[in-house]
Amino acid sequence: MVRTSSEFPGIEWVEGTGDFIRIDGEKCTGCADCVRVCLAGCFAVEEKKAKITSLERCMECGACWYVCTGDAVSFSWPRGGTGFRTRWG
Ligand code: SF4
Ligand code: SF4
Repeated sequence: MVRTSSEFPGIEWVEGTGDFIRIDGEKCTGCADCVRVCLAGCFAVEEKKAKITSLERCMECGACWYVCTGDAVSFSWPRGGTGFRTRWG
């Protein structure tokens, strides 16, 4: 099944691609850089630890992995290769 969002025209997401981003709670410092960098709003920080609220709108940019200086974010490609498509290729 494919989803779209009026907030991001031209983009669609394929459902069922799995949990391809994980947070190591032992390493997370609660700095919230992942929250600030994620345009899709996938993260929140609660009680000084990051958590993924939803990957439904993740655009697989890898910014959360890149920005995390604590090496707490791991990123692997979604099941099936990608769960994110644009009309531009
Ligand atoms: S950027 Fe990394 S260390 Fe900072 S809150 Fe997010 S997961 Fe935790
Ligand atoms: S890969 Fe990009 S869109 Fe997906 S959760 Fe990380 S920062 Fe957000």
